[in-house]
Amino acid sequence: KGPDPDMVAIAERMATVKHKILVLSGKGGVGKSTFSAQLAFALAARDFQVGLLDIDMCGPSIPKMLGLEGHAIHQSNLGWSPVYVESNLGVMSIGFLLTDPDEAIIWKGPRKNGLIKQFVKDVYWGELDFLIVDAPPGTSDEHITIVQCLDASNVDGAIIVTTPQQVSLIDVKKEVNFCKKVGVKVLGVVENMSGLCQPITNFKFMKVTEDGEMKDVTEWISEYMKEKAPEMMNLIACSEVFDSSGGGALKMCKEMDLPFLGKVPLDPQLCKAAEEGRSCFADKDCVVSAPALQKIIDKL
Ligand code: ADP
Repeated sequence: KGPDPDMVAIAERMATVKHKILVLSGKGGVGKSTFSAQLAFALAARDFQVGLLDIDMCGPSIPKMLGLEGHAIHQSNLGWSPVYVESNLGVMSIGFLLTDPDEAIIWKGPRKNGLIKQFVKDVYWGELDFLIVDAPPGTSDEHITIVQCLDASNVDGAIIVTTPQQVSLIDVKKEVNFCKKVGVKVLGVVENMSGLCQPITNFKFMKVTEDGEMKDVTEWISEYMKEKAPEMMNLIACSEVFDSSGGGALKMCKEMDLPFLGKVPLDPQLCKAAEEGRSCFADKDCVVSAPALQKIIDKL
């Protein structure tokens, strides 16, 4: 029996891709797609040729996060063409194949795996410096399929995104074990949503009155600060949202001998940029999240 023709075609496609990075998370909603999208924006801003492949079939949020909602994939004689944000940032997602964005995708394993294989085999990326793969949460068939298609030995590694609380960290261990089992290096762990941080001027200040009402005293506070301590206006206020008393991802990384890449706080401005499909690095209001993400990306 000769070599599998699909695998030969995949190897040919992937021969023009220098680096392949998987973005994983144990749970949904921890910010994996947000991180993948911003990583793609950051690398593209550094003039790399970047491809972002979204294989999260159940909730493809990448098109929206890249500002590409409503776009469709085109066929050319070279294969499926990615949708381009810029000439050096191409995106492929199941989201582009759905006619109705609200269509629930209740595909069974083999069909999902077939589509992932097709994405790797049939998308014409051309020369890429980086292919970033936004995987579904957890460790399922889709993960095994993508690792088989890309060939674990050709994958640079995986970045695992988590939130600081124990329930999320426990699942990180499962991701790490998965990586070990399939032979993919863990590039590091990102702790996302580590506290809510914002410029103090973005906060509303409330006073609880005697009859239990919340009274907005923001104007009074800001007048007071401006007059008495104007330097306070430049402060960033942070608050722990999730319980990180267990030491968060940093402690877990030390225990498991994994690289800790850094923390990204919950930043409403990052959420807004993601909703609007923009890069946080080009947004002057992302004063908290953009430097945090930049520091993480610099470590890669
Ligand atoms: P996942 O891919 O893990 O399911 P998402 O990236 O879709 O998670 O994030 C879930 C929601 O949380 C999105 O609306 C996203 O914009 C928001 N979000 C993620 N990270 C942050 C952050 N650091 N600050 C503010 N909002 C965030």
